[in-house]
Amino acid sequence: NLRPVGIVGAGPAGLTLANLLRQGGIPCVVLERGTREYIETRPRAGVIEHRAVRMLDEHGLADRLLREADRHGACEFRVNGQAHEVDYAALYDGQTHYVYPQQEVVKDLLGAFLDSGGDVRFSVTDVELHDIETSSPYLTWTSASGERERLDCSFIAGADGFHGVTRRSIPAGAVQEFSHQHGIEWLSILAEAPPSTHKVIYALHPDGFAGHMLRSSTVSRYYLQVPVDDTVDNWPDERVWAELHKRLALRDSDWKLTEGRITEKRILDMRSYVVEPMNHGNLYLLGDAAHIITPVGAKGMNLALHDAEVLAAALMEYTRTGDDAGLRSYSEVCLRRVWRAQEFSQWMVFMIHRSPEPFLSRLGQARLEHLIASGSSAGYFAQNYVGP
Ligand code: FAD
Repeated sequence: NLRPVGIVGAGPAGLTLANLLRQGGIPCVVLERGTREYIETRPRAGVIEHRAVRMLDEHGLADRLLREADRHGACEFRVNGQAHEVDYAALYDGQTHYVYPQQEVVKDLLGAFLDSGGDVRFSVTDVELHDIETSSPYLTWTSASGERERLDCSFIAGADGFHGVTRRSIPAGAVQEFSHQHGIEWLSILAEAPPSTHKVIYALHPDGFAGHMLRSSTVSRYYLQVPVDDTVDNWPDERVWAELHKRLALRDSDWKLTEGRITEKRILDMRSYVVEPMNHGNLYLLGDAAHIITPVGAKGMNLALHDAEVLAAALMEYTRTGDDAGLRSYSEVCLRRVWRAQEFSQWMVFMIHRSPEPFLSRLGQARLEHLIASGSSAGYFAQNYVGP
């Protein structure tokens, strides 16, 4: 009688792990703080790497994604009002990104898990972890109807995001934390506006970075570099559009930015964080619970999916054969990819932002000019951007 794996959090990491375990015949229960509607409509990421899509497809979890997602293999940098296209797919074996909103990934994963008889407890509160250093860890929580409940687990998977409870349950001093604030902030804007571009745009402007990201045929995401400690109140809609028009403008071109109703405006703290190792006792952390990365380079959800794949394989190997080699190397395998992504993201952050120190801004621009002019630099960008 196998005790289930207790998974805290029904985001991309937790739900991918849940599906893979279920397919492998390993029982699991997912505890989620939000309602089903909340997790299925929470817009965040939108760009998935080819490797992550292949993994989902291998497990029969990418049917709708492959039908509906747009594939993208080029992006555009704008410097001083001039556009430079980088065809990264051509530079990296034809590999592309898939543009498919995160909430659709969650919807597909949740649907597949529930259709196969999976057990998700929504709207739980006060989740607590117990005895994680023993072979009989257990979870307690308050259910939607107000009862205190308990689950005896074989392992606990902490997939409850950066602000969740699982990482905080590890005793102080048992893990090392690495954290860095990049000295910049972004105003992130979601609007009901059709994309004004076929490619993601990264624009360097004397007033700061601006980005135009793709989400769907009716919705677009934009980013504006804003001073640290700026607030959303300083950014009424008219100012947002005026600044986007200015920073994204092209010289000698009739290119225009299409406006739409703004549905979300938030300040993103451009912070990176990694915990090492990603496990303690029989608690294994995955996704944002273990590491966060700036949205530059679009890596967060992709790392979360990779962690889930590695952990599922390790848990299955252990359950089937008793061999714990995969569990012992779980953290090391995931962290290698995490630090690779952190290094690339930092490389890109430096390249596209305006620094308060003019010297550093010019260095960043020099890096971008090198990328545009040099095949080897463009190759480095392509391989890291679309994912190893
Ligand atoms: P989450 O998605 O945060 O899921 C955690 C789940 O746990 C949530 O459902 C939450 O409700 C639940 N939970 C939290 N606390 C508890 C608790 N105590 N008990 C029970 N449940 C709990 N990444 C990319 O790869 N590409 C992109 O283009 C990209 N763009 C982004 C844009 C923005 C604006 C933001 C904010 C992020 C972006 N990311 C991107 C990052 C990406 O969204 C995250 O890395 C991803 O959501 C991580 O997935 P996760 O499953 O680890 O955590």
